[in-house]
Amino acid sequence: MKIFQKGFNFGQDGPGNRLVYHLQGCNMACIWCSNPEGMNINGGKEYTIQEIFDECKQSRMLFFSGGGVTFTGGEATLQHKELLEILKLLKEEKIHTCIETNGTSPKLKELLPFIDYLIMDFKHYDSDILKKYTGVGNEVIKNNFEENCKNERQQHIRIPLINRINTDAPEEFAKYFSRFDTSNTVFEFLTYHEYGKEKWKTQYKVKDGFVPRETLNKFTEVFNEYNLKLITT
Ligand code: SF4
Repeated sequence: MKIFQKGFNFGQDGPGNRLVYHLQGCNMACIWCSNPEGMNINGGKEYTIQEIFDECKQSRMLFFSGGGVTFTGGEATLQHKELLEILKLLKEEKIHTCIETNGTSPKLKELLPFIDYLIMDFKHYDSDILKKYTGVGNEVIKNNFEENCKNERQQHIRIPLINRINTDAPEEFAKYFSRFDTSNTVFEFLTYHEYGKEKWKTQYKVKDGFVPRETLNKFTEVFNEYNLKLITT
C-alpha cells in the first residue's frame, strides 16, 4: 500500500481517536486540493498489508471514544485491492473502520460490508461544473450516494464550500439529496481554507475562495428547511 502520511487524529476523520492513513494517488484534480502531494500515484512510501495490520493491532488501546482506523487520501479507493484486503482483516479483528472517499469509485459497494463509517465528498450537483474544476463528473458519485441511502450503514456526506465555485445554489444540493431516504445520512459543510496553497508546485488557481458567513448561514438554513441533518466535526 502506498501511503504519503499517517498519524492519529481525534474526531475529524470518523468517530473518536483514529489512526489515519493517507493513501497515495487521486483520480480527481480539485483546484483547491490541500494535499496536492498525494495526487500522483507514483509517490508515497510502500507498506505491506501485514505491516499496516500489525500497526493497527498494536494501536488498539488508543482507539478510544469509538475510534479505530481510517483510510483517506488522495483517494483511498484507487488502491482498491489492498484496501479491501486490509479492511477485511481489521473487520475480523473487530477494529472500527472508516474510509473517506471522493465517491468516484464504481467498486465502492464491494468495500461497504467492511466499513463501519463512510465519509464521502459531494462537491457539486452539476456534473459539467464539477468536471471543470476537478477533472471528473458526478455520475458515479450520485450513483454511490443513492445506493448508500438504501442501506442502514452510516453515511457522512461532506460538501466543501468554495466561494462561487459551488455556493450559488444551496437549493440545488438540498433538492437533490431530499429525493432520497437520508435517514442514515448526516451532512457537513467544509468551508474553504488555504492550508495547502503553498504546497502547489504549479499555479494555484482558486481566487477569492473564502466563503462569507452569510453564504454558510444560507446553506444551513436551506438544509434545515429540507430536513437534512447537519453536523460539524
Ligand atoms: S478528491 Fe480530495 S484528494 Fe483528490 S484532488 Fe480533490 S481534494 Fe484532493
